[in-house]
Amino acid sequence: MQYRGWLLAGMLSFGMMPLAQSAEVGCPAPALSRMARHTVKSGESLESIASRYNLIPATLMGLNPNVRSGKATVGQQLMIPPYNGIRVEVPSGQSLKDLAARYRVRPDVLYEVNGCQRSPKVVFVPGVNWSPNEATAPTLVGVSSVLSGSPLSGSAPIALGFGWYLPNGATKPVFHSGIDLLASLGTPAQAIGEGTVAFAGNQGAYGNLVVINHQQGYQTRYAQLARINVKVGQKIKRGTTIGTVGQTGTPTTSQPHLHFEVRSNSKLGWVAEDPIAFIRK
Ligand SMILES: [Zn+2]
Repeated sequence: MQYRGWLLAGMLSFGMMPLAQSAEVGCPAPALSRMARHTVKSGESLESIASRYNLIPATLMGLNPNVRSGKATVGQQLMIPPYNGIRVEVPSGQSLKDLAARYRVRPDVLYEVNGCQRSPKVVFVPGVNWSPNEATAPTLVGVSSVLSGSPLSGSAPIALGFGWYLPNGATKPVFHSGIDLLASLGTPAQAIGEGTVAFAGNQGAYGNLVVINHQQGYQTRYAQLARINVKVGQKIKRGTTIGTVGQTGTPTTSQPHLHFEVRSNSKLGWVAEDPIAFIRK
């Protein structure tokens, strides 16, 4: 099943990639050629139109300069992409790989989303939130002083990284909103920063989930837990055991792992960040 988060269509999903072997066979049409059109009707707002297409308003603002004020006017024509992302003109001399690195998306996903073109001039970058200040280059995830350390004390190989990927048999890429760190069942999971427990309980695909709010607008999430050791409202320190690794909810793989997320607060909700930028051993 897919878990829909607020931003970046943060989803958990079954399975792992393979993508590469599909190369030119059966590549979908480029996302930019699959735009729907929407004429604004009375009673509609940018938010209601975005939500009707499972998008965030920022995506529509990025693709439709006429609504960048945040207001949609009756009769306006809007371009509606198949999923969230931004339109980017490829700078001369740059490859899709360069763009993938700059926007922190998987190169193979970027390639496929853009119809497997070798050197497109304009591409759609999925999962990037358009912002007026970052229309040309998003700021890279910063390392925060309030989060440090690792949620698992031993070495924990990554079973599935953060970002867009194409699950087995799927036709649309999905977004993995955290990282899956392999560990045996029962391994203690630790908070990577001081904070307050905002949620501790069972939550759909996340299974047993602990959510901790930290200073500076950060939040961490620890999912698929077997046991939960903390309560809502509890103040915790960095290194506090918040629960143990389990297989509850809808894990992406049958190997026991901790699904770990870092999110930062924004006007539009809790944006998923790549946890790798925060983990320190
Ligand atoms: Zn996961």
